[in-house]
Amino acid sequence: MSHPSRRLALPALALMAVGLLAACGGSATPSDGSTSPSTGPTIVAAFYPLAYAAEQVAGPDATIINLTPPGAEAHDLELTAQQVAQIADADLVLYIPGFQPAVDEAVEQQAGDRALNVTEAIELLPAEEHGDEHAGEEEHAALDGDPHVWLNPLNMATIGGEIAARLSSNSSIAATAEKGASDLRASMEALNAEWAAGTAACTIRDLVVSHEAFGYLAAAYGFTQMGIAGLSPEAEPSPARLAEVAKFVKDNGITTIYYETLVDPKVAQTVAAETGAATAVLDPLEGLPEGYVGDYVTVMKDNLAQVRAGQGCT
Ligand SMILES: [Zn+2]
Repeated sequence: MSHPSRRLALPALALMAVGLLAACGGSATPSDGSTSPSTGPTIVAAFYPLAYAAEQVAGPDATIINLTPPGAEAHDLELTAQQVAQIADADLVLYIPGFQPAVDEAVEQQAGDRALNVTEAIELLPAEEHGDEHAGEEEHAALDGDPHVWLNPLNMATIGGEIAARLSSNSSIAATAEKGASDLRASMEALNAEWAAGTAACTIRDLVVSHEAFGYLAAAYGFTQMGIAGLSPEAEPSPARLAEVAKFVKDNGITTIYYETLVDPKVAQTVAAETGAATAVLDPLEGLPEGYVGDYVTVMKDNLAQVRAGQGCT
């Protein structure tokens, strides 16, 4: 082991031998064929949008490991011993503090100055209060704001720039990373322009969503987000909260309640059934669905089509 001082939680320690034998724990893995070692850095990304940004910036010589497997709910991620070891061994670890407690803990214990909080150059929105004291008490303690920054494409461009800056000291891919970040910025600016044009004329400006993932998207394109649950998709809304949302939907002529790909749609369907509104899928991009063929850009384009249909945009 190259890190003799590595500290592991006891369950992680117990699983270590298993982790070493079972080469891969379900996430994207580096080629472990030791005959052709990768020449570039190994970058661990906490969840999909950060992995996407890393891929775009660092190019094919880098090895990108996404800690959140497809289909998993990112907020509640638990790490395997092998993933903790990957964090300890990575050249760069990308994460958002306060979003995934298990990642925060492993980063604090294992990553040292190889960790990059990708929100460092982004102005955070406040974590919204919505009057349900049962939801949200223990969420996001480590980040003083809403962690869902990736749903504004321009924030993705900023994240790409931060990654490139950190890779600039690795001479083998510094030039690649600089170009990759520039290309990512161009692509994200085009996506932003498409969103801005597509949402310029919408008659319904309140966006009613199952959990409050869309604050940055709403702020960027002139919507107001109302989340049925809090910032975490697992927060169970109280009956009082459901009644409050249903009243809001009726009073404001909301026609569509959005639920998300990786979370049980029951709560959104409950409000929809009570109000006569329709439901549609808006993907918070906390992970890709299992087997999904596409990427950050295709999901955001699908999201735009859903918003245009659901918000009366012409
Ligand atoms: Zn979320």
